[in-house]
Amino acid sequence: MTIFDEIESEVQSYARAFPRVFTRASGEFLYDEDDNAYLDFLAGAGTLNYGHNHPELMAPLISYIRDSGISHGLDMHTRAKAEFLETFNELILKPRELQYVVQFTGPTGTNAVEAALKLARKVTGRENVISFTNGFHGVSLGALATTGNSHHRGAAGIGLSGSSRLPYDGYLGEGVDTTVYLDKVLSDPSSGVDLPAAVIVEAVQGEGGINAASLSWLRNLESVCKKHGVLLIVDDIQAGCGRTGTFFSFEEAGIRPDMVTLSKSLSGYGLPFAVVLIRPELDQWKPGEHNGTFRGNNLAFVTATAALRQFWQDDSFAADVRRKGQYVEERIAGIVSKYGDGRFSARGRGMFRGIDCVSGELAGKITRKAFEQGLIVETSGSVDQVVKFLCPLTISDSNLSRGMDIVEQAISEVCAEAGSVAGARGYFDEQKQAVAYQAAG
Ligand SMILES: *Cc1c(COP(=O)(O)O)cnc(C)c1O
Repeated sequence: MTIFDEIESEVQSYARAFPRVFTRASGEFLYDEDDNAYLDFLAGAGTLNYGHNHPELMAPLISYIRDSGISHGLDMHTRAKAEFLETFNELILKPRELQYVVQFTGPTGTNAVEAALKLARKVTGRENVISFTNGFHGVSLGALATTGNSHHRGAAGIGLSGSSRLPYDGYLGEGVDTTVYLDKVLSDPSSGVDLPAAVIVEAVQGEGGINAASLSWLRNLESVCKKHGVLLIVDDIQAGCGRTGTFFSFEEAGIRPDMVTLSKSLSGYGLPFAVVLIRPELDQWKPGEHNGTFRGNNLAFVTATAALRQFWQDDSFAADVRRKGQYVEERIAGIVSKYGDGRFSARGRGMFRGIDCVSGELAGKITRKAFEQGLIVETSGSVDQVVKFLCPLTISDSNLSRGMDIVEQAISEVCAEAGSVAGARGYFDEQKQAVAYQAAG
């Protein structure tokens, strides 16, 4: 029995899928205590966009620590924070003509979401927030109310209120623009949907199954929000920091959210760090109204600044992400047409992609087989049916193709085990039935 079995809570999750003891990591590789190497296509659930222990981030961090730099500073002014704000303003906000003030929240994504929701309610005096089917915004109560997943919602133990759910782009099939429905319910005083303070949305849903909203849907969403005086919050915690091929996931759509939440890859080094970007007129906080002990993780400011300088001085890194994203897109298209028998489908945008395998059991078999071959890859989606690719954006071309090869091999073996393509079809139907029964019962 290991110490983890002995005294760590049953709440562990990733540890169950990847039952090894890991000791070190570098770039796109994790190593276990027997020095086996694993190619990391999970990357801290999107927290390690620049890979593990990037040397250009590690060096300034080490020298900052060695020079006895402030590590914890509450929300006091520090040199490290000033440098982060200056760099973020110069390299990210100004070139995109975005005007935001930066709120440092507690260092988790869910706390940034809490802050954004609170501020939207405070500024508008309204309670309701529109969130979307399959959205994921964190698991503290306010954020959880806007999260769709029933497994997470069920753990709340009390009623989750203050949010109305609407269908995300594609939820009702292709060709249905669900923002038309949003516009309709907000125009109708008897729709039963209270005029909301805000709409909170992911441009690409991560935990919900790598569902990418179309750019036109995002633009329509922004117009509906404007028309009804509703604030638009983009939760860019997972899709941001370059994952989709631009710093913000909404850039390509040309929209300007009222607030943006960022966390996961913001520190660039896996250090806890979260912010809310707020349109200046909306920054109506009173001092300390939303606080948190760890709002001043200066080590994260140091690595975040280094990451911005290393990767965001110009468009070359983002262009490389788009190029790799295209490669992943092509590989996925090949896999879907070769093994999917019309059932698999491609998901996502940029380097934020996945394969919907219809069945959670099937997707689980694929990721387990991949792990046996040294690839760490996870599933997401409402029944964990999507194999999701979240490798570091800095991954080498050869390791990217190697990872895709391992997945393709795992899929071909799992489909072969299901008998044949025809056998696989029967398997899918059984799975679909099982899902339907679960949903019904
Ligand atoms: C991970 C995630 C969160 C929650 O972040 P935590 O740090 O786990 O609290 C919120 N929104 C999105 C889109 C996420 O992917």
